[in-house]
Amino acid sequence: MAISFQTDFPGGNGQLLSVDESADRPAVRFATEAKNCPLGLWFHFRVSGLGGAGVRCVLVNPEQTLDGTDWSGNCIVYRIGKGAWARTGKPLRIEVVGGRCEWAWDIDATGDEIEVAFCFPYQLADLEATLSQLDGAFASAMIGMTPAGRQIVRLFNRLPDGQTPAVFLTGRHHAGETPGSWVLDGLLRHIASEKRLHEQITWWAVPFVDLDDVVDGSYGKDPYPCDCNRAYGPGFPRRVEIAAVMADVRRLQQETEHLFFIDLHAPGHNEHGSYVPIYDWGKDLPASPAAQDEFAEQFRAACPEDIRSPIAHVIRQGGAIPGPYSGFAAQRWAATALKIDAVLLEISYQGNGKTYYTIEDYRRLGSSLAETITEQIINRRPLA
Ligand SMILES: [Zn+2]
Repeated sequence: MAISFQTDFPGGNGQLLSVDESADRPAVRFATEAKNCPLGLWFHFRVSGLGGAGVRCVLVNPEQTLDGTDWSGNCIVYRIGKGAWARTGKPLRIEVVGGRCEWAWDIDATGDEIEVAFCFPYQLADLEATLSQLDGAFASAMIGMTPAGRQIVRLFNRLPDGQTPAVFLTGRHHAGETPGSWVLDGLLRHIASEKRLHEQITWWAVPFVDLDDVVDGSYGKDPYPCDCNRAYGPGFPRRVEIAAVMADVRRLQQETEHLFFIDLHAPGHNEHGSYVPIYDWGKDLPASPAAQDEFAEQFRAACPEDIRSPIAHVIRQGGAIPGPYSGFAAQRWAATALKIDAVLLEISYQGNGKTYYTIEDYRRLGSSLAETITEQIINRRPLA
């Protein structure tokens, strides 16, 4: 049976270059597709017709991925048919003609069809599956449309009542950053199972900000026409998705005494740490390590030891993004325009340097995050 390569499903990404069936284990050479971005990173494809022989997957264009060519510590993910996702081992570095190198992951799996991705995929169907297990703990509301005509959805456990402290979470400002989604998934599950958290706090969340790129399988970093996380004020939002999110955060703020904003991301592809990047955005929002560092340390300490990050925060130079589309990141907008506590959290694609995270590990991080936010907001300690 001929081997075939497919990406025609939500989140699909990958360009097939060649199939070598001469070895015992067939080898599939593929490129990440940058699609509407300057650089790629996300990939997700299905190889069928393998007849139980396993597969070698070879990434041919690491130079064209954000953060570059060193993929030596990156364990990607796979599943057989519709089975559970698992991690591969580390890749082999393969020297190729012309002085370049490519990265190869060998997957020894029975089964005719193997699905492969950069990290655990998280699509609308995954969110729907989780919500269906949470007994109506969260309702969902449409808050706007994407350029392609998809509905942007916000989850909520209740409407604000003026008294209850509130949290606004966002995910997938960068579409390929799925670790943040699995953490949000774990957070939602934890809140649904802990009456105290569900009752004491108003939780709102927009799980997929850059929804079009999530479905289209684009990494979504700096995409056309502009990066969702550089599209906030101070003039006007530079993307319709962000207009919807900004209006929704303001809607919650108007009826809430104390609001906490948290934006979930993923760091470089080969970073083995999850942390709060503390940006120095200049005079309107100088880096405030003493304040955001406290949240970062609390979150790190709250995480189970086996999956705890080696670092809690990193100081970064934010600066203005050059070019005509310069705008604010969500965290900067929330902190400066709304003057509310706001944190960005990077969740590793890989793990903490000792453990490569599973889906369940990401969910455990989400439980820890829910507890950390609750402690922060119930104690009402402003970050800055
Ligand atoms: Zn990001």
